[in-house]
Amino acid sequence: MAIHRAGRVAILGRPNVGKSTLLNAALEHPLAIVSPTPQTTRDAILGIVRHGDAEIALLDTPGLHRPRTELGRVMNRTAREAARGADVIVFVTDVPTGRAAGSAPRAHPGDVALLSDVGPDTPVVLVVNKVDLVKDKGLVLPLLDALSKARGFAAIVPISARKASGVTRVLDEIAKLCPEGEPRYGADELTDRPVRFFAAEYVREQILRATKEEVPHAAAVEIERFAEPDGPGAVHIDATIHVERAGQKKILIGAGAEKLKRIGTHARLRIEELMGRKVNLKLFVRVTPAWRDSNRQLAELGYSGGSTRPERDEDEEPGDE
Ligand code: GDP
Ligand code: MG
Repeated sequence: MAIHRAGRVAILGRPNVGKSTLLNAALEHPLAIVSPTPQTTRDAILGIVRHGDAEIALLDTPGLHRPRTELGRVMNRTAREAARGADVIVFVTDVPTGRAAGSAPRAHPGDVALLSDVGPDTPVVLVVNKVDLVKDKGLVLPLLDALSKARGFAAIVPISARKASGVTRVLDEIAKLCPEGEPRYGADELTDRPVRFFAAEYVREQILRATKEEVPHAAAVEIERFAEPDGPGAVHIDATIHVERAGQKKILIGAGAEKLKRIGTHARLRIEELMGRKVNLKLFVRVTPAWRDSNRQLAELGYSGGSTRPERDEDEEPGDE
């Protein structure tokens, strides 16, 4: 179908509600990294979806939270900037589980606060995720009622992003709200970020899987070399993992470098899948104390907050590959 609409859509919500899982389900491709650790997503990540007559530029954002580091503040700013540039907002919340599920479903106080931040003129699609976790679907309705008191929604869609159930309806509702316009991206473009960005993300994803507690939050990945031969042969990638303390470095490397090897192998497979070619990945671990609180280090690691790109940058790809 020809594209007659083009919209910028920001996915907003608390950490861990399933925003990145929703992006991946909409793309039908595991582009964004997903993990049970809150604050997995640090950058705004664009995924381009064509749905009916609409080109939907979906911007996944870091979960808005109470920041404890400069990195946290940058992440919140990234999410707010994405919201400001959006034609439509997809606000994701999740069903209450555990102890909270027993009591009468109430809107999460964090959701109410976030929703009050969204300007009255931007249409909001409310997505209630993880409905696969509730046995009694009747419990979802009072939650929807409670949230509807916080603001009006263009649509309310219960989904399970993990099972990709309800995602088509979310896209239907977004498409209707997209303004008329010409497509901004090429027909087969998936994202606007270079592969080297995702290479760093996929290394970080494996760190999130292989370690717990402080290490995932203290780790950042920097691509030092990204050499893509014109002809056949493997892409060579050297990446440095920065952690804040020597103890974290030891945990990450593991006995006999076992853990670091495993991280490298799994990350390499993910990068190979994205690129459709062989990759040779070398990982190094370095202690960079307090990088999360140094503006200079944050900028060097690409967490400048200004990297949100709702509009297309003409001068992208400075040729430093
Ligand atoms: P984000 O921080 O909002 O981006 O959340 P993620 O997409 O990283 O997901 C956080 C966690 O929730 C991960 O462990 C996901 O696998 C899980 N999750 C996401 N969607 C669903 C869902 O529909 N059902 C269930 N049960 N878990 C989900
Ligand atoms: Mg995320």
